[in-house]
Amino acid sequence: MFRVSDFEDFFSRRCVWVNGPVIVGAGPSGLAVGACLKEQGVPFVVLERADCIASLWQKRTYDRLKLHLPKQFCQLPKVPFPEDFPEYPTKKQFIEYLESYAKRFEINPRFNECVQSAKYDETLGLWRVKTVSASSGARSEFEYICRWLVVATGENAEAMMPEIEGLSEFRGNVIHACHYKSGEDYRGKRVLVVGCGNSGMELSLDLCNHEAFPSMVVRSSVHVLPREVLGKSTFELAVLMMKWLPLWLVDKLLLILAWLVLGNIEKYGLKRPPVGPLQLKNSAGKTPVLDIGALSKIKSGDINIVTGIKRFNRDSVELVDGEKLDVDSVVLATGYRSNVPSWLQESEFFSKNGLPKTPFPNGWKGKAGLYAVGFTRRGLSGASSDAVKIAQDIGKVWKEETKQKKHTTACHRRYRSVQMGSLTEIGQSCIIIM
Ligand SMILES: Cc1cc2nc3c(=O)[nH]c(=O)nc-3n(C[C@H](O)[C@H](O)[C@H](O)COP(=O)(O)OP(=O)(O)OC[C@H]3O[C@@H](n4cnc5c(N)ncnc54)[C@H](O)[C@@H]3O)c2cc1C
Repeated sequence: MFRVSDFEDFFSRRCVWVNGPVIVGAGPSGLAVGACLKEQGVPFVVLERADCIASLWQKRTYDRLKLHLPKQFCQLPKVPFPEDFPEYPTKKQFIEYLESYAKRFEINPRFNECVQSAKYDETLGLWRVKTVSASSGARSEFEYICRWLVVATGENAEAMMPEIEGLSEFRGNVIHACHYKSGEDYRGKRVLVVGCGNSGMELSLDLCNHEAFPSMVVRSSVHVLPREVLGKSTFELAVLMMKWLPLWLVDKLLLILAWLVLGNIEKYGLKRPPVGPLQLKNSAGKTPVLDIGALSKIKSGDINIVTGIKRFNRDSVELVDGEKLDVDSVVLATGYRSNVPSWLQESEFFSKNGLPKTPFPNGWKGKAGLYAVGFTRRGLSGASSDAVKIAQDIGKVWKEETKQKKHTTACHRRYRSVQMGSLTEIGQSCIIIM
C-alpha cells in the first residue's frame, strides 16, 4: 500500500531516470565496470560517496603503501600499467594509473553522493536507489531509477573497530590503520599495533623506520611468505603452480619455500595456522602476509611480538599472558568490512557479512539486474574478471534491445512509460540520463 510518507518522500527527492546501469562506488572495481560498459556502448551512472575516485587509496591508506602484488596482477581491463612503472607500483603511481583510466574511458562519477538505500521495485520492475548528497554544505537527496544495479562498494568499505575492554579509558592516541599516514608522527613513541596482517606488518615496519617502538599483537596465527623467491614473485609462482598442481600441494610447496627463505618463524611468536595459506584464503578470506622487511625487524627485536590483549588501562595494556606494557599510542590494524547490508535491501544474493553468498566464480550476478564486482577476495584481478563478465552480460541485453528499437517503435514500452509517465509527472524534479 502506498503510504503518505512514501508519497512525500517521492516528491521531496529529485528523481533521476538512468537509461542503463547505476554503479555504486568509484573504486577500481566501479571504474573497471564503467570502462567495459563504455566499450559495449552502454550508458551508465557511477555514484561515489567521496569527492574523488579510488577513495580507499587516496584517503585511507598510508604513505609508504605499494601494491602488494606484481603490477600484471593488478591492472584493470584493457589498460596495462605503463612500462616504466616498477613491478610493485607505489600508491601514488597506482592512483595516477586510475585517474588516467577514468579519463581515458570518460568516466565521470557523481561525487559526494552516498547511497543510503537500494531496493528492487517489483511493480516497476526497476531498481530504486536513494542517495544523499552533501557537497559544499548543502544537503540534497536523489532517487535514481534504473534497470541494472552494480554493487562496487568494495570489501573494505568500513573500518573494523574491535571491542576491547578498557580501550575507552586509555589516555593515549588510538586510530584505525585507515587513518595512519606515516611513522613520522610517532617518533620515539611506544606504539601498540593491533593486528598482524599485511597492514599491521607494514605499519610496524614503517614505525621502526621512523624510530618509534612498535609492539605488534599476534593473537592467533598468521602465514608469512616471502614476497619473492629467487627474484620471482611468490604470488606469480603460486599462480603458475596452480595450473598444474592441486591446491594442497601448492600450499605444501609454498610452506617449504617459506621455510627455506624465512626459516622457522614460530620461534619469534608467529605461529602458522594449521591450514595452508591458499586454502585459508579460499575458505576464510585471510590473505597471507607477503613480507617486505618486517620479519627481519621482528628477528632483530625492533618489532616486539606480543600475545592477545586482555584489557587497556589509562597508560598501559594488559596481555593475556599476564605481561603489562606501557604504551603511548595504539594503531588498530584490525581490517575492514563490506557496508552492503547497511544500504542494499536484498537478502537473497548478499549474505549478512556483505559478500555474495555464491562462491567464486559465480558471485558476480544476482537476480533482477543485480551485479557485484570486487567481492571475491581475489583483489584487483578478481574485480577485473567480474567487470568483464558484468559488462558483457548487460551489453548483450542492451544491444538486442537497441537493435529491436531501430526496427520497431513499439519496444521499451514499459521503460518509456516510466520515463514518460510517472517520472515526468513530477515535473522539474525529474532528470533523465540517457
Ligand atoms: C591497504 C590495502 C592494500 C591493498 N593492496 C592490494 C594489492 O596490492 N593488490 C590487490 O589486488 N588488491 C589490493 N588490495 C585490495 C583492495 O580491496 C583493492 O585494491 C581495491 O581497492 C578494491 O577496489 P574496489 O573498487 O572493489 O573497492 P574500493 O577501492 O574500496 O572502492 C569502493 C568505493 O565505493 C565507495 N562507496 C562505499 N560505499 C558507498 C556508498 N554507500 N555510496 C557511494 N559510494 C560508496 C567508496 O567510497 C569507494 O570509493 C588492498 C587493500 C588495502 C586495504
